[in-house]
Amino acid sequence: MSETPHMKQYRHRLDHARGYSEVWELVKDTVKTALGEHRVGMMLFLDDLPIQLGAYHPVGTNNIVLNRMLVQVVEAATKSQRLVNAFIYILLLHEYLHALGYVRETDARQLVYRVAKRSFSEEHIVSRLARTSPWALLKDVPLSLIDAPKQVMEIVKDFEKSNQKYIV
Ligand SMILES: [Zn+2]
Repeated sequence: MSETPHMKQYRHRLDHARGYSEVWELVKDTVKTALGEHRVGMMLFLDDLPIQLGAYHPVGTNNIVLNRMLVQVVEAATKSQRLVNAFIYILLLHEYLHALGYVRETDARQLVYRVAKRSFSEEHIVSRLARTSPWALLKDVPLSLIDAPKQVMEIVKDFEKSNQKYIV
């Protein structure tokens, strides 16, 4: 796939995103561009889940629950905001696709790759992780040794800001 005008902007936004809400805005914008689909009003919660589980979307809710402990492990392992952003982007994109009605795992995974390719190019780290697995970032980390005490679930405040754009 050839370079599109969006790609440069999307790559820049991914590399410089600060916080979950900026990654989330990028998830929504890239899906809108790639698939023409949109949904507002989602909420993000952070919880410490088993390390093999990245995130989940309870069907019928507006909620996404992201594995806080896993994000901390990725931060410690990569020491790169860019890679952490790429990781979070893939996890949130996957759950967003579920929330848009793509319930099957295989559908969601294939669409994550398709959106990534169209948004960032085929060689970009997001596309490569989407093609293999985001856990590839942790291939040198012994996940069985991770055993931190579980913290309480928290909600991410101001996760979705986009509603403001629709006030005329
Ligand atoms: Zn899934």
